Amino acid sequence: MPAISVQDLRKVYGEDEVALDGVSFDIEEGEFVVVLGPSGAGKSTLLRILNGLTEPTEGTVEVNGEEVRGRRDDVAMVFQLHYVIESMSAYRNALTGALSRAGLLQSLMTWYDEEDKRAALDALETVGLLEEAEQRAGSMSGGQQQRVGIARALVQHPTLLLADEPVASLDPKAATEVMGYMRSAAKDRNLTTIASLHQVNIAREFGDRFIGIRNGEVVFDGDGDDLTMEAVDDIYYGEGGDDPAEVLEA
Ligand code: ADP
Repeated sequence: MPAISVQDLRKVYGEDEVALDGVSFDIEEGEFVVVLGPSGAGKSTLLRILNGLTEPTEGTVEVNGEEVRGRRDDVAMVFQLHYVIESMSAYRNALTGALSRAGLLQSLMTWYDEEDKRAALDALETVGLLEEAEQRAGSMSGGQQQRVGIARALVQHPTLLLADEPVASLDPKAATEVMGYMRSAAKDRNLTTIASLHQVNIAREFGDRFIGIRNGEVVFDGDGDDLTMEAVDDIYYGEGGDDPAEVLEA
């Protein structure tokens, strides 16, 4: 059984805004998959459906054989913008990952048990921030804040980690560093990961497998060797040389 199975996903916003059309793929446990594609291709919609934040118009998503219907505790998401709470320490931010698993009363009281506390410290160590655990998140660099976001996701003990353009707002050095931590965290835990990225060079460095989406359809699915310059051109601009500007506007 694949860890993730996506079958014939279609998403139409409003009357006729087709964001995804006939998207199908399986992902094995522990794979680190990068979703590539131009702006407006449907990457974010795909990740939001995988996370249960958006309902597909047609098609199904299964995580470990169970159909996704609404939010799942075992699916964690790292977002593009820093979702950290600036006034709290890195450690407190990481701990909030445990809230998604907690009962209502426990989350209202923000109680954390010893296991959660250990998980938060362990996750901060994984992203190289153990020494900064008590530092206020708001005083950290963008890259550090995004690493806190990854730690928070890890504390959720997910079986699937999703990241929607996690390094889009970072400079190339910080972006590479954050992706390095994300990959090693995922590999250490055999955690299935799907990240959307628009920087092809960074994607190439970290992905095991690449799924290219253009105009809501899968136009590429292969490993780093398959991801030639021609393949990248095709994902972004389309076969037969569509006008890049038009595709990017689409
Ligand atoms: P990407 O993440 O690849 O940039 P998106 O999934 O954000 O692509 O968008 C895919 C298409 O769906 C785009 O044409 C976008 O304008 C449209 N879209 C996305 N979200 C909404 C929404 N909430 N309502 C209407 N259209 C949307």
